[in-house]
Order: sequence, then structure tokens, then C-alpha cells
Amino acid sequence: QQPRLTLDIFVHFLPKMTDLLLPTKHKLHGKVAIVTGGASGFGEVTALHFINHGARAVVIADVQDEKGQKVAASICPDRCTYIHCDVTDEDQVKSLVETTVSLYGQLDIMFSNAGIATPSKQVVTDLDMSAFDKVFAVNVRGMAACVKHSARAMKKGGVRGSIICTASVMASMANPTGGTDYVMSKHAVLGLMRAASLQLASYGIRVNSVSPGLVATPMMCESFGAEKEVAMKMTEKFSRLEGVNTEKHVADAVSFLASDESEFVTGHDLVVDGAFVFPQ
Ligand code: NAD
Repeated sequence: QQPRLTLDIFVHFLPKMTDLLLPTKHKLHGKVAIVTGGASGFGEVTALHFINHGARAVVIADVQDEKGQKVAASICPDRCTYIHCDVTDEDQVKSLVETTVSLYGQLDIMFSNAGIATPSKQVVTDLDMSAFDKVFAVNVRGMAACVKHSARAMKKGGVRGSIICTASVMASMANPTGGTDYVMSKHAVLGLMRAASLQLASYGIRVNSVSPGLVATPMMCESFGAEKEVAMKMTEKFSRLEGVNTEKHVADAVSFLASDESEFVTGHDLVVDGAFVFPQ
């Protein structure tokens, strides 16, 4: 029995004791990330998550300069930076990625999240084509430019990076009362994610998407014309799980996809919606 007891101590107790004594390695330890649309909503909360999970540097990219600078400073002035970038302008996206690499040496994570919605009344018979073009410029063209330039930098740097695009539950269903341009744009995000995941797999670059349900971010509050508290109450009706779908649920999913915990996951859409349902 004596040797068996000694073996048990080595196999079961020593690793647990070292776990307690040694500091835990954070899941994004040393990683460099870009978060587009990082001045608000999912982007803002995810940037904070990345820092809390040990990211070496997070670059917040947005068009809301004052807000973005404030968010970067409040999250962590040493490890979080703000860079102006309108994702509809490919040159700005290219420069965002190049500046990040020149500042921090590499790019490991691209959270391509910037997006806009038009008023939910956009039914197909009343499509406003100029609003349609704006939605596609940000949600589709901008998303593609972010995937393109981040993948190029990862390939060039030999980084087995992770790219995460923000889609939506509307990427896999439609809204019977409107939002046609938005629904179409989010379906396109899944197409981009799937194509890129296949084309980049041989370089070890993973591409996935996250699809939130309805969350009371500034975008959603604006399109519903409601204050945050009221909007949060409204969102409760849109999921079968009890409770409110929040930015944190989405940031947790994105952090998983960004980390090595998902090292063999690519080409997938992670839906975070508490089982979405249109209220009757
Ligand atoms: P939000 O408005 O709080 O954040 C979006 C951010 O994107 C803003 O800071 C905005 O300034 C920025 N942005 C807009 N246009 C840009 C551009 N051209 N270049 C760079 N940045 C730009 O809204 P959110 O809800 O956090 O939205 C983030 C993403 O989540 C979007 O892609 C949106 O479609 C998606 N989404 C939102 C919900 C929801 O219920 N809130 C659900 C599903 C998907």
C-alpha cells in the first residue's frame, strides 16, 4: 500500500497545491488585440474583459474619438490605447493594423465588431437605398476590410491569431416587421466568417463569429427610442431563458473564442441569445 499512497500524493495533491501557490496564467496573457466599435456597447465591455484576462495591449478603434479615448483611459491607460478608425475606409483599417503591429510587435486578436442599424421599420417594400448602402458599408464592407488586414498581419507575422466578427441572431433568421438591410448585412457576416475560416486555416488563423440576441446597448436603445433601464426590461421578452441578455454574456463568449481555450474551433457562429424568441 505504501508505494500506492506516495503515487497518489504526486498525482492528485501536488498539482492542486501548486495551482494554489503559483499565480494563475490569464487566458489572454501576452496577447495584442484590436476591438473595432470599442467605444461603446459590446466593444467597450469586451475590451475591458480582454485586459482583465491578461491581454498585453488592447487597441480600441472607433469613430467616436472623445468617448473612445475616455474608455481606453478608464479601462487601463498603460495597456489600452485609442485609435480613430472608420471601418468603411480601407486605408484607415490598414493603417490601424499597421500602427498596432508597429506599437506592440504583433496582432493576435481582431474583434471586428463595429456595426450600425437603421430604424427597424425598413420593410422590403419601403427600403431606403441610401440607408441600405450605409449599413452595408459598415456591417459588410467594413467587416471584410478588418478581416482582410488583420489576417494579412497575422500571416506576415506568423501569428496563429483569432479573428471574431460580430454577427447577430438576425444572421440566421429574419425580422417579420422590418430591419431588412440589417438582416441581410448580418447574413453576409456569416458568409465572410465561413469563407475566411477555410482560407486561413492552413496558417493557423481561426475565424469565428458571435451572434448576440437583443441587448440594451446604446445602438439598441436608440433604435427602440428607449432609455437603458426601459430597454433592458424590453429585452427580457426576447429570450426563453429567464433574465436579461447583457454585454457581459457576449464579452465572455468573445474572450473564449479569442483564447487558446478554443484553439480547435474555427468557422463557427457562437450564438449568445438565451434562446431568442419574438414576443407574441
Ligand atoms: P453600439 O452602438 O453601442 O456600439 C457600436 C460602436 O461601433 C459604436 O461605438 C460606434 O461608434 C462604432 N461604429 C459605428 N460605425 C463605425 C465605423 N464606420 N467605424 C468604426 N466604428 C464604428 O452598439 P452595439 O450593440 O455594441 O453593437 C456592436 C455590434 O453588435 C454591431 O455589429 C451590432 O450590429 C451587433 N449586434 C448588436 C445587438 C444588440 O442588441 N445590441 C445584437 C446583435 C448584434
